[in-house]
Amino acid sequence: MTDYTRSLRIFLVLPVLVVAYVMAPNRAQQVVTPESAYAQQTLRKTVTWKNCEPISVVLGKKNMTPEKNRLVRESLKFVGDATGLRFVIVGTTGEIPQIDWSIVGPKAPGAQYPPVYVGWLDDEETNILADNSTLGASVANPIAVKSDRQLVSGAVVFNNSLYQSVSSSKTSGETRRNLMIHELGHLVGLGHVTSPSIMHSNPDKWPSTPTLEDLKTFDKLPTNC
Ligand SMILES: [Zn+2]
Repeated sequence: MTDYTRSLRIFLVLPVLVVAYVMAPNRAQQVVTPESAYAQQTLRKTVTWKNCEPISVVLGKKNMTPEKNRLVRESLKFVGDATGLRFVIVGTTGEIPQIDWSIVGPKAPGAQYPPVYVGWLDDEETNILADNSTLGASVANPIAVKSDRQLVSGAVVFNNSLYQSVSSSKTSGETRRNLMIHELGHLVGLGHVTSPSIMHSNPDKWPSTPTLEDLKTFDKLPTNC
């Protein structure tokens, strides 16, 4: 495992394609338009992960626990198996990502873009979390390659204090595992759906475990891998 320290900043301008939030259902709801816009863009244009290369992931050191670490690994495997994409955890970082992570985040030697960040933070620490009612958020950053968009970096952040209130059991829909898979779904290019699904915007509509339909949705990603 590599301990990431800040390296040279890159000055490529990477657009933020999506910031997708999961809001705690019993808290103030907020209409989040970027995600809707993203879903529409997804319909118009192919989104792939860059050249189907393995997706490098760096884990935030802050608030990490063995349970969270295990959950990330299991969930990356689940989403990887469902999509054909491959995730590789390349190290840990003490950096606190902001919305511009894909531009200023530390890169591995020889890498063009920062690895995807996955970690647990408080909402005051990062502008990736909208406010203190945001359970989790994903940012996915594309570059344009001919007529396609290829995702090259991103960040998945969970609200550490709210996370404690999410069930760790597998009997209800709003579980930590489902929250993780939902956000990873956004990371690889899925928008929200309106039928009960792991990709519904409301955790109340999540199945206790992802269904066959959910797996099909993941499988429909135009990853071309
Ligand atoms: Zn969402």
